[in-house]
Amino acid sequence: MAAASPKTALVVGGGFAGLAAAQVLTEQGLEVLLVEQGRGLGGRMCTRTATVPGTGERLTFDHGCQYLTARSPQWDAALERLRAAGAVAAWETGGRVGTAALTADDALDLASFSADKGKELLVGCPTNSAVGRALATAAGPRLTTLTGTRVSGLAWDGSAWRARAGRPPVLSLRVTPGRAGSAGGAGDEAAGSTAGSPASSVDEKEREREEVLAGLESRTFDLVITAMSSVSTAKLLGGGNGNGGGNGGGNGGGNGSVPLAADVAAAASAVRANVCWAVLVALKRKLDLPFDGALLSRPDPSGGPLPQYGAIAWLGRDSTKPGRPRVAGGAGEAWVLHGGPGWSNDRAAAAPEAVARELLGELAKLAQTELLPERDVLHIEAHRWNNAYPLNPRPPVPPPPGSRAAELGPGVLGLGPGGPGLGGFYMLRADMALAACGDWAKGPRAGDAYVSGWEAAHALLASV
Ligand SMILES: Cc1cc2nc3c(=O)[nH]c(=O)nc-3n(C[C@H](O)[C@H](O)[C@H](O)COP(=O)(O)OP(=O)(O)OC[C@H]3O[C@@H](n4cnc5c(N)ncnc54)[C@H](O)[C@@H]3O)c2cc1C
Repeated sequence: MAAASPKTALVVGGGFAGLAAAQVLTEQGLEVLLVEQGRGLGGRMCTRTATVPGTGERLTFDHGCQYLTARSPQWDAALERLRAAGAVAAWETGGRVGTAALTADDALDLASFSADKGKELLVGCPTNSAVGRALATAAGPRLTTLTGTRVSGLAWDGSAWRARAGRPPVLSLRVTPGRAGSAGGAGDEAAGSTAGSPASSVDEKEREREEVLAGLESRTFDLVITAMSSVSTAKLLGGGNGNGGGNGGGNGGGNGSVPLAADVAAAASAVRANVCWAVLVALKRKLDLPFDGALLSRPDPSGGPLPQYGAIAWLGRDSTKPGRPRVAGGAGEAWVLHGGPGWSNDRAAAAPEAVARELLGELAKLAQTELLPERDVLHIEAHRWNNAYPLNPRPPVPPPPGSRAAELGPGVLGLGPGGPGLGGFYMLRADMALAACGDWAKGPRAGDAYVSGWEAAHALLASV
């Protein structure tokens, strides 16, 4: 039986879904602990930094989510708050971001480029990793975040939750091909970045983190919201995390045998995700391409409705985003290349060096130039997204008529008289004060993840 008036909540996952859920909960007066296994907040919206050996030049690459666009009232309100806080700004592309067609042999049909003029593209400032930090700040002082920590088990004893957590052995998958990797430094920009902080405040932060982690297993929570990819959700709630459940008795998840919420785990595991290889490359010179970002596809030759992708599905001139560092004193540029879904899935087990080499060759082919690593490349590395996008997101299941969640109709949830109600983009286990959310429960965009988290928190609060 869940607490009649919940006071504490645990949110697992610090991407858009988890941060949206955390803000709804803190606004309703709950004390929230958000645990994120990565070094920073923001999930798949994040940034890698690298240092060029010899010169010490700092490079940044937004290697995941590229930009944010308006999609729904909840999300649009969040974007406006982020803009007001200076955490996002428009990527002023002058009509230089859009779509272009590939020919049958994967060459670029330059004449086909069509700019996406209708929508504003918002990017993080000074980089995309700022967005997660800003969303956490917006949730206020009732939110505590614990990064670099993986929840390995949860246990529900019939009235409260306990969690087991620890430091993941590897904080993030980082793969850097030989030359750049041996000499340059690179890493994810972390939330609450300590760059520039005096050593004493870094130590202080680390001490606080250790204290929260040490106290975690003796704490109980009235509510839990999981906000992870479909694969991680299925693992944690389906009993496949391998590290044992929490301290409490009752229904323990993550012990490899007892599913904690079998229905949620089954629904999450039905959502497939694809691999996406990202190659981050800084060039010493500029490429003669008539756009700063393009989604590349070709029509299905058999006349089917879905476009087909080649080796590179997206390429973006990252250094043209606002506030990004100049490359090679302005003579060069930073590019982010995303491998096409089929291409990336076929190379899921490939060596990063090979992937980086191959996509550099594909970039040269698209730009009809020669790119020689020694002559033209300042830095190159490859990053594999294992669960990049949900391919078949779970269809919504609106709250049953007559339920308290169904009563949260337009105008009730604080976004004005015409504001949204709950569309059912989450999974709820009211009997165990649990909700699950993430982009897999709505769609493949950041705004979908945000709405899923926002709805999950409102639905859970309405159900206990
Ligand atoms: C290459 C790429 C490009 C994209 N481009 C765009 C774009 O341009 N525009 C757009 O709108 N969308 C884009 N997307 C999609 C968008 O990034 C995602 O839909 C969105 O970020 C998903 O948010 P989420 O909160 O559901 O999941 P995530 O961002 O994945 O957050 C889940 C978090 O849970 C953490 N976690 C997992 N397991 C545990 C555990 N056991 N304990 C603690 N923490 C855990 C993970 O580390 C992760 O940070 C892109 C995605 C990718 C991969």
